[in-house]
Amino acid sequence: MGRRKNNQNSMSLNNAQHQATKICFNDDEEEENSNLDDSIVATEKAIAMDDVTMSDPNGSFVDGGDDDNTSADYYFDSYSHFGIHEEMLKDVVRTKTYQNVIFQNKFLFKDKIVLDVGAGTGILSLFCAKAGAAHVYAVECSHIANMAKEIVESNGYSNVITVLKGKIEDIELPVAKVDIIISEWMGYFLLFENMLNSVLYTRDKWLANDGIVLPDKASLYLTAIEDAEYKEDKIEFWNNVYGFDMTCIKKQAMGEPLVDTVDQNQIVTNCQLLKTMDISKMASGDTSFTVPFKLVAERDDYIHALVAYFDVSFTKCHKLMGFSTGPRSRATHWKQTVLYLEDVLTICQGEALTGSMTVAPNKKNPRDIDITIKYSLNGQRCVASRTQHYKMR
Ligand code: SAH
Repeated sequence: MGRRKNNQNSMSLNNAQHQATKICFNDDEEEENSNLDDSIVATEKAIAMDDVTMSDPNGSFVDGGDDDNTSADYYFDSYSHFGIHEEMLKDVVRTKTYQNVIFQNKFLFKDKIVLDVGAGTGILSLFCAKAGAAHVYAVECSHIANMAKEIVESNGYSNVITVLKGKIEDIELPVAKVDIIISEWMGYFLLFENMLNSVLYTRDKWLANDGIVLPDKASLYLTAIEDAEYKEDKIEFWNNVYGFDMTCIKKQAMGEPLVDTVDQNQIVTNCQLLKTMDISKMASGDTSFTVPFKLVAERDDYIHALVAYFDVSFTKCHKLMGFSTGPRSRATHWKQTVLYLEDVLTICQGEALTGSMTVAPNKKNPRDIDITIKYSLNGQRCVASRTQHYKMR
């Protein structure tokens, strides 16, 4: 989830996804899909889009008479519109990872009660039902729930999947406990939109003692990049717009993390793990944190921005599975999150950019995220130290 940001200005990214417009997915249960590097999944294989067989993509999305939504409904709830679900379903790194996790680990699902938090079109519920779950409760708060109901019916799963329209926080379940909670809750910068809180609420209310949460681990990473050209285009642009000074907007642009793809050749330093969250154990307060970082230059270069990205993993599978949204992995619709620095840092190989990152949900709107970066560089060519505030909204 978490695709509300409008990235008209993004670079080429997600070519694979755009090329995939006409593609539907087969049931190939054996296909590998993760984009994790070797350190996470040893047997990773690239997804060959050509291998994905075609079927009629139009059949599933029948207008179910739920067309009295106006643009206002979509403005306040973009998840009601099928477009956002189309983007997520076509993100094959995302969707095939969930499919492989479920189909290749049927022992987890067999005869189990599953709760799908934020079911969208119902895709994860369908995977679970197909894998042998005893019953799946698919909870979805937006109007797409009506489509999910139809999709469940037209695919013959009405006896296994119950779609419940409403917020997970408000819904009543006909069972006291569930064996599995599955959700695709991740937003930009992992935490944007704060849906993780709803999953933690669900876990505390309904998960059986020996139950599992899928995915159960999520990690945030940081690296630094050279990005002169794009910083010029996105930030310095405001210095002179058709001869006028619009630098007041430049200040705002600096404070807004940019969701975009980064070419791996832009990476100047190591990639540092900032924080790992254990979804099965963490408290909701754990989404606020301050963590130190030390980014060591792997070559002489300039640094214009820090870049954050995440990975998620499913450690309860019989082999570790998951995917990464990092710049060295196959692109996903989450892209990466670019935080531009006020200074252009000149760094020499071996020198370290050190500092800390503070992350917290915004007090006024907890779906937004406030990020503070403190950094300092004490190098041969450059000495700099600064605190910068960013707001993801
Ligand atoms: N599971 C689907 C959709 C993921 S997007 C898929 O994998 O394709 C996340 C979905 O969660 C959105 O459709 C959003 O409307 C829904 N959602 C977010 N918060 C929710 C909540 N508190 N209760 C119920 N649904 C929620």
